[in-house]
Amino acid sequence: MVLAESEIATTPHVAVVSSPGMGHIIPLFEFARCLVTLHGLHVSFLNITTEASTAQMQLLHSPNLPSGLDVVDLPLVDLSTLVSKDALVLTRLSINVEQSFGCLKSVLLNLGKLNALVIDLFCTQAFDVCKELSIPVYSFCTTSAAFLAFSLYIPTMDREIEGEYVDLPEPVRLPGCSRVRIEDLLDQVRDRKNDEYKWYKYHVSRLPKAAGILVNTWEDLEPIALGAIRENPVYTEIPTPQIYPVGPLIKDIEPLTASDVDCLAWLDKQPTDSVIFIALGSGGTLSTQQLTEFAWGLELSGQRFIWVVRLPSDIACDMASFFCAGDGEAINDGREMEYLPEGFLERTKEVGLVVSSWAPQVAVLSHPSTGAFVSHCGWNSSLESVRCGVPMIGWPLYAEQRMNATMLMEDVGVLTKPVVEPGQKTIGRLEIERLMRTAIEGEEGKACRRKAKELKESAGKTLSIGGASYESLSHLAKQWKAY
Ligand code: UDP
Repeated sequence: MVLAESEIATTPHVAVVSSPGMGHIIPLFEFARCLVTLHGLHVSFLNITTEASTAQMQLLHSPNLPSGLDVVDLPLVDLSTLVSKDALVLTRLSINVEQSFGCLKSVLLNLGKLNALVIDLFCTQAFDVCKELSIPVYSFCTTSAAFLAFSLYIPTMDREIEGEYVDLPEPVRLPGCSRVRIEDLLDQVRDRKNDEYKWYKYHVSRLPKAAGILVNTWEDLEPIALGAIRENPVYTEIPTPQIYPVGPLIKDIEPLTASDVDCLAWLDKQPTDSVIFIALGSGGTLSTQQLTEFAWGLELSGQRFIWVVRLPSDIACDMASFFCAGDGEAINDGREMEYLPEGFLERTKEVGLVVSSWAPQVAVLSHPSTGAFVSHCGWNSSLESVRCGVPMIGWPLYAEQRMNATMLMEDVGVLTKPVVEPGQKTIGRLEIERLMRTAIEGEEGKACRRKAKELKESAGKTLSIGGASYESLSHLAKQWKAY
């Protein structure tokens, strides 16, 4: 379904806004595209501009956008005096959103009649402006239902628990859900005195203001967490808005550079299910020591691989790549290859391909030669992996990724993880060698692959006409058209 230019002015209109970072922009933009192409709405996607990220600009300003999907760039804001150098990611991002929303009211008014605004979890400042303008606001959770259950429960934990959550003697018992191990707690709640916690609590406490919460998951992937949020009295009493699982929405448009084309051509020459793809999200990096051990482990395993390599975290700023994802030159400078063990590239050239900074992840995961994915377990990467039927090796780094990895291993059965001793900072080459071999050749790896293929089928069904996620979005779209 594509809207003709003449129809756009009279078509029900929804605005969507995402906080900065490809991990939020990608699913919200795909969601916006689905509203236009599958459900006949006119969508304005408000882009909070940051110091340009190549990947972000390429995605949002692609020439192939459907008519009826407009991208509105909000003016760049100067954060230099507002955000300290050591501010962490959620603090930085929240201040950026707050400043960019200085013009939100006039931007929304300029768009004419709006039937709804959809925001992600960290744009909750929009509730106030939209209340004034009588625009219903829906929240879109770009991560799992399990994470949403945790987030909705945080205000209760904040009232009832004294001291740090990381000092609790036992795992956190979420009402009706799997327990959350203390070591898996997300970074933002590990220090309640840090601004990260304050911002996180601020945003999640405002979730009940939403007219509904969309989640990028589906019924068969997370039946327990979705059931608990809908039915457990702790959640119903909050009160929790209506939940709409609409996923797995993964990016559909992936502009290819010349090196991306080479990468896919290389994959064409490899056997089915044989290649391990290693990419740690838009911002993930390894320490110098871990990079060395990883390279040796990979080489010793003898497995085929495509590895997205970035400057080590102790050389580049830890989260540098989060805000300028895909901007290989800015982040890596071409220097990242210097941190690989001497001779690595030469010795592995028959079986491996090392790419700098960024690869076309969905195209790689959809390729029949890809047999396993070493992932930091960001939610988009996790959904892309299962939607393509590729089993995962969990390498969680930051945010809620440890929770995702545990859930995907223990509740879903699609992921293997390295064995890590308590307090161990670097995972050694022999464990990495074992993990890589197991993923491709071992029984555990094969069981995960079977599960991943099942999930691929289930994901396809839920997104098709008559499937639960499709119908959930269709129901919402009808509601918005009638508003
Ligand atoms: N991505 C990519 N190529 C890369 C690394 C990442 O296309 O080399 C994309 C990936 O497909 C996913 C997103 O970046 O859509 C990362 O999102 P995720 O939620 O997994 O992690 P985050 O970056 O938010 O930590």
